[in-house]
Amino acid sequence: MAALTRDYDWSSTPLGHPDTWSQSLRTTVNIILNSRSPMFLWWGPQLIQFYNDAYRPSLGNNGKHPYALGQKGEDCWPEIWPIIKPLIDQVLYKGEPTWSVDQLIPIYRNGKIEDVYWTFGYSPVYDDDGQRKGVIVICSETTEHVNNSRKLHESYQALQISENNLLNLVMQAPIAIGHLKGRELVVVAANQKILELWGKDASIIGQPLEKALPELQDQPFLGILDNVYISGVPFFGTEHKALIRREGVLLELFFDFVYQPIKDINGNCTGIVVVANEVTDNVLARKRIQQSEDRMRQVVMKSPFIMLVLKGSDFVIEIANDACFHYWNKTAEATLGKPLLTVLPELKDQPFPELLKRVLESGKAYGEEEVLNYFETEQGIVVKYVSYLYEPILDEDGSVSRILVAAEDRTRMVEDRKKLLAAEENLRLSLEAAELGRFDMDLVKGTMFWDARCRELFGVDHHDEVTYENDFLPGLHPEDKERVSKIIEDVFVKELTNGDYDVEYRTIGANDKKVRWVRAKGKAFFDEKDKPIRFIGSVLEITDKKSEELRRNDFFAMASHELKTPLTSIKSYIQMLLKKAANDGDDFQADALNRVNKNVNRMTSLIQGFLNNAKILEGKFELHFENVDVNEMLNEALVDAQLMSQAHQFKLAPRESVIIRADRDKLIQVMENLISNAVKYSPKSGAINIGCDVTNNVAEIYVEDEGVGISAKDQQKLFDRFYRVQNEKVQHISGFGIGLYLVSEILRYHNSKIMVESEEGKGSRFYFRLPVVKGIV
Ligand code: ADP
Repeated sequence: MAALTRDYDWSSTPLGHPDTWSQSLRTTVNIILNSRSPMFLWWGPQLIQFYNDAYRPSLGNNGKHPYALGQKGEDCWPEIWPIIKPLIDQVLYKGEPTWSVDQLIPIYRNGKIEDVYWTFGYSPVYDDDGQRKGVIVICSETTEHVNNSRKLHESYQALQISENNLLNLVMQAPIAIGHLKGRELVVVAANQKILELWGKDASIIGQPLEKALPELQDQPFLGILDNVYISGVPFFGTEHKALIRREGVLLELFFDFVYQPIKDINGNCTGIVVVANEVTDNVLARKRIQQSEDRMRQVVMKSPFIMLVLKGSDFVIEIANDACFHYWNKTAEATLGKPLLTVLPELKDQPFPELLKRVLESGKAYGEEEVLNYFETEQGIVVKYVSYLYEPILDEDGSVSRILVAAEDRTRMVEDRKKLLAAEENLRLSLEAAELGRFDMDLVKGTMFWDARCRELFGVDHHDEVTYENDFLPGLHPEDKERVSKIIEDVFVKELTNGDYDVEYRTIGANDKKVRWVRAKGKAFFDEKDKPIRFIGSVLEITDKKSEELRRNDFFAMASHELKTPLTSIKSYIQMLLKKAANDGDDFQADALNRVNKNVNRMTSLIQGFLNNAKILEGKFELHFENVDVNEMLNEALVDAQLMSQAHQFKLAPRESVIIRADRDKLIQVMENLISNAVKYSPKSGAINIGCDVTNNVAEIYVEDEGVGISAKDQQKLFDRFYRVQNEKVQHISGFGIGLYLVSEILRYHNSKIMVESEEGKGSRFYFRLPVVKGIV
């Protein structure tokens, strides 16, 4: 460019060829051309222009260059000539240099008039003759600098305004705002709202946040703020938990907040604006809802009942437990999240969707017991019974969009009940078929009920109310009246009988005068003071069975009677033969006769038993009471026992004399029976203990064995006449089933009772109690 300037054809300008120039002009032009600073020269009366390459940018692209070179000033700068001509003149004519700083001189460049700022000085240039001939302009364009400082100023002003605005904004904002300044985060502004939120007062203004809210020290906020300060990146927090001390109490609170960094014009962070909103109530409410939802889910899932939650008008299955899947015979995948009627389309034809809709609309619970419902399965329609409750679930706003269903599968129960009803009906029919009469006495009201069969058994024709005094007692056979009324008296004493009633007696028909044998069985019920309140039972006619029994008894009685006389004579012959054998020293005979004697004794006691049995039945059984020494009686029984078996070990527990009042012979029969049973039913031998314990003046006499034992069921019937246990352990042991009956009858006549404790396979203990009359107790 410089070359271009230098090579310029100056001859065509009013100045002519450079050779013609004065020395001064040449030197000046040389200085200008070689300078790196932008320079410009107006020379001569026409103010012909020179400028160097450094000046060129000021002319802009497509500006006045190159034609400005050598051009007349006036022609070149018409747009600013009025501004600069006076300056030029001032320098040229008065010799006063000028200096302008950041002067706006708009020039035409870049295709338009531009605001261009200059800092420039105009100085006179003297010609060889010492006359001022030109004006040299040393200039620099300061447009950029001016623009920058203007912007700076504007920014500063804006900043001032915005800081003020910010403060105002902070103070008046309806939301909690605070302004923290510097990296120490000094609280420079904080509105009432944020002070309340922080639980502080205005005294914290001017303090670093760390000091103002010391509780923040162990929490993440100071770290986050510092990060924002350093990085200049704002931070948005949602539902952050913060521990804030308010009125001395450290509270767990939740906040939404923004940390907005504030930057100066250089982009450096100067502070942070904190905008916060407390959302504790919302968070806690949501947590509570969540908790109650969780609780509900837990209740549903853990419930042994069928439980599910249906949502919306489509009844989408939101939650359901295993019991529910089981009831529907569906999997969780096939049901959860789907509308009820999509999962179980067969419900469309059942009342449930309509009822659910009603609950949803009314918000009122609804339930039913044991309703029929059915499901379509691959195997066909399955019918079930269900008891259920539809409970509306209230949303936060009190509306109902969900229903909790709790249900219980009652199918089994309904079916069982149907079966039970059928069974009851069967029982009633079989009662009728068995011709059992039923009686029911209300001992509190003093009333008595007999059903038709019962009335029949007492030969009662009338249909009026029956009573104990007018119908029952007069209906009893005179020979049984005393016994039966005594038994009933005892039934009403709980400690004696526990209310158990089982008796056989005769009735004489009130109207038909017919004699009927009946077996009555029943139970008395007592109140908490053991007072009898009710007596219920049934009556069965046993006339036929009884006559058969009586016939059998008659036969036994007759046979026994007939056998008794020959046996007595056999016995006396044996005694004589025994004596003779002893005298002859014939041991074999003596031994054989002893065995014969033993068997004869057994036969005698058997026959005695039959006779007693018959006497009991005929009511001719008599006792001869005397003082009996138990020791002596037991010793006698022991001697007899040892004759019965050598295989068993008999033990008699020694004790001092005890006297009781009893029929000695009959008591020995009792002992004989018990001991012979102990021997009979202990086939593997073992010990048999006989003894007597005395407590509170009552003697308890017992026989214990280690035999086969008796089941609990058999124990109840053991003392019935002709009762024999039926099982393989005892099936080969012979007997008539009257031994224990006799024992119990004999003891009954003694106002005592035979009792048994036994365990199958372990052994039995038979015992009875009689009061001690005299003795060392
Ligand atoms: P039986 O003539 O059959 O022995 P009992 O009236 O003496 O008649 O006994 C009735 C039933 O009681 C017997 O058939 C027997 O099964 C059972 N019984 C009696 N005593 C004993 C005992 N000590 N051990 C086991 N069972 C016994």
